[in-house]
Amino acid sequence: MGLKENKQRLFEEVANVCKGAGRKPEEVTIVAVTKYVDSQTAEELVQAGVQHLGENRVDKFLEKYQALADYDLTWHLIGSLQRRKVKDVINYVDYFHALDSLKLASEIQKRALHPIKCFLQVNISGEESKHGFRPDQVEEVVQSLKDFDKLMIVGLMTMAPLGASDSQLAEIFKQTDNLRKFLKGKKIKNMPMEDLSMGMSGDFPIAIQNGSTFVRIGSSFFN
Ligand SMILES: *Cc1c(COP(=O)(O)O)cnc(C)c1O
Repeated sequence: MGLKENKQRLFEEVANVCKGAGRKPEEVTIVAVTKYVDSQTAEELVQAGVQHLGENRVDKFLEKYQALADYDLTWHLIGSLQRRKVKDVINYVDYFHALDSLKLASEIQKRALHPIKCFLQVNISGEESKHGFRPDQVEEVVQSLKDFDKLMIVGLMTMAPLGASDSQLAEIFKQTDNLRKFLKGKKIKNMPMEDLSMGMSGDFPIAIQNGSTFVRIGSSFFN
């Protein structure tokens, strides 16, 4: 199947899931994760109407950012970021989805020339292998970050564990939304906490049903 058809089908599917969940399709942004493909294929996706692109590695992010400089796009860095690479990339990033330590936050604060929209990554499932803050750490974390004027904490990001059942996924996504609402209630000035980055190719319908506003979809575009 062609890229254009896949794009069409995915955007329709997201819109249908939104409607089924009583939500407006405009509430959910589809980030096309291009880490599996080269810049030329990413460009075809852009020509098919995709406006939000996501990469999980700094080198690939910069490669595509440069190759697609002629287009008006929104750029998402979705994977974990090493502190030493912050200075190379952070000022090209519209949304950083994987803020997972205070040291990384300090480095962004030091290097960013304007406020960067960030998601705090939370490890709701408690899996050892996953990056992210534990839910019980997050309240202290947001207090530590409240004077970081180069960070705009737009919401929370989570990744569900591999092999989770539909009901486990729904539970994890719901807990993430509840934590977001709790933090939003604190009304901290650099933390609007309106958004949720959750859902990938395998679980985006359940993520949308539980409040996701940014879905990160990769493989479904290219299969
Ligand atoms: C690769 C990746 C995705 C997309 O996953 P698919 O299953 O291919 O849709 C989403 N988020 C992150 C952080 C990723 O690394």
